[in-house]
Amino acid sequence: MIDTHAHIRKGEEIRIEGLDWVVMSGPNMAESRDNVEIAKMNPKLKAAVGIHPQETPRTPLENGGIDKLINELDEILSNNFEIVAVGETGLDFIEPYDVKHQEILFRGQIALSLKHKKPLIVHSRKAMEETLEILRSYKNLKGVIHCYSGGKKRIQKVLDLPGQWYFGIDGNLTYEDGLAEVVKLIPKDRLVLETDSPELTPLPFRGEKNYPENVKYVYQKVAEIWQMSFEETEKIVDGNAKKLFGV
Ligand SMILES: [Zn+2]
Repeated sequence: MIDTHAHIRKGEEIRIEGLDWVVMSGPNMAESRDNVEIAKMNPKLKAAVGIHPQETPRTPLENGGIDKLINELDEILSNNFEIVAVGETGLDFIEPYDVKHQEILFRGQIALSLKHKKPLIVHSRKAMEETLEILRSYKNLKGVIHCYSGGKKRIQKVLDLPGQWYFGIDGNLTYEDGLAEVVKLIPKDRLVLETDSPELTPLPFRGEKNYPENVKYVYQKVAEIWQMSFEETEKIVDGNAKKLFGV
């Protein structure tokens, strides 16, 4: 089993029993740097580096604020070949937000993904059409729409994007019937599973703090939906994650 999206803070208890590896998403500069450090100590923890769109309002634009951030990420990527992905980046239209700044930061990270040939971890909240429009303007991109919330109607739009795109599904699958209907329509070879820990804890631990090892409940639910054994499901989903992240 592989958790393709978790947030692990330095010094925190790491619970990854039964997992082959975990991708640690990078939501800001400090945690991105921490991810690189944590990954050096534990080969099962893989680092991603990036800046979440909700970090944008706090980004000073004076003196090339966003350029400076992108240059810093560029430098980290150049010096640490073991980094597996760029992100999380994207668009998030929950107030307060600034579309223009978010787009500049997003495009900057897309450029890094292409330059360093690392897949992109895309976060998109209340902004799926706008996100797809930006992604459509690039060729040869590879990535995951993390915590996919585009519903049934946008599955084909994601599959039609240039490059190769995957759908990341989280623990809310265990209690949202609508999401189970969405998963039925996602091609089996484009699904990866995540926890987004410490958030989005699956049943039966919903409401408690989440850990990467809880991704097994998401696998279990997908096995039910696919009407396959846990082992067969694991083989397919893990194969997708390996292909996506090149691990
Ligand atoms: Zn995340």
